[in-house]
Amino acid sequence: MKPLLAFTFFLCTVNCFAQQPQQTRNVFIITTDGFRWQEIFQGADSALLSNPAFVLDTNLSKQMFWDSSIALRRQKLMPFLWNVLSKQGQLYGNRSLDNKVNVKNFYKISYPGYNEIFSGYADIIPIFNKPVNNRNSNVLQYLNNQANFKGKVVAFSSWNIMPYILNENHCGFSVNSGYELLNDHDELSGLIDTLQNTIPKNKTRNDQLTYLSAKNYVEQNHPKVMFLGLGETDEFAHEGKYDMYLQKAAAVDKMIADLWYFIQTDPFYKDNTTLVITTDHGRGKSNKTWRTHGFWAKGSGDAWLALIGPDIAHEGEMDNKQQIWQKQIASTIAFLVGANFTAKHPVANHIDIPAGNKPRNILLAAAHPKL
Ligand SMILES: [Zn+2]
Repeated sequence: MKPLLAFTFFLCTVNCFAQQPQQTRNVFIITTDGFRWQEIFQGADSALLSNPAFVLDTNLSKQMFWDSSIALRRQKLMPFLWNVLSKQGQLYGNRSLDNKVNVKNFYKISYPGYNEIFSGYADIIPIFNKPVNNRNSNVLQYLNNQANFKGKVVAFSSWNIMPYILNENHCGFSVNSGYELLNDHDELSGLIDTLQNTIPKNKTRNDQLTYLSAKNYVEQNHPKVMFLGLGETDEFAHEGKYDMYLQKAAAVDKMIADLWYFIQTDPFYKDNTTLVITTDHGRGKSNKTWRTHGFWAKGSGDAWLALIGPDIAHEGEMDNKQQIWQKQIASTIAFLVGANFTAKHPVANHIDIPAGNKPRNILLAAAHPKL
């Protein structure tokens, strides 16, 4: 072993979790479909924001989302992420700092992406976003089969294909998706169902309705594992509406803030719940390709990941050279609640999450002597 490698290994063994995280009892996973790392870490893109082909009111949109400072600009777009999570959590995937999160699957579209997130496996068999049951099991199903999580796992998604990706017919937990009715007996569920019956529908439910449904379920039933899959960021990007893409991202940030505030003021969840926030794929990098994504559009494999919770060291924006793969997220979800996800297919290892405070800076100094 070379001296630097040995030193790095030593640092990681003291710096990352030596054992399972101790505080986390509950884990919530939130995804916003096809939302780029560029907007997370750099805020609104100036070329897209000032292009009338993509933004109906460029002046108003600039007032809402533009600042010449990257730090202020990203904070305008996602205030919870940059006011709170960047101080109490960890943000992975700023490629300008060489910190990378990538989709491993070849396709860079939604079904393979959500499969990779939850099965921990970048399947080579393509399923092109169709209502076809997944041949792979997933970490949510695995947790629901453990004694202390049985009946305490639930999923809500805007996209109506999610029940097939998660195999609702035999995974043992409920996946409420698209405009599927809630059929619960409380007042808010009744109101949501009335609305769901009334408004015009397509394959992706309005994210706000998905969020309200999920939060209401969380308040009433206190699940230990919850997946909230939001979809409108991708829908509006495909339509080429950059103004709406940004507004939907800002709305997602607000939902995460609202959920985190509930968690930290609820006796069941306070200081024992971790959020895992990510996306299923990136999008094209250029002004021509940002609307689309897939193996043909460069940049579609670039993703990001955010963590906040009692076991997550307050590292903020990760600035170390690093490569994380989307397929590592499944094991990480299990690892956070003290479980070891196994399946019939190969499962990637969990991410080494920094647990202590700041020894990583020593590692950075060793790798980049000039810093
Ligand atoms: Zn997608």
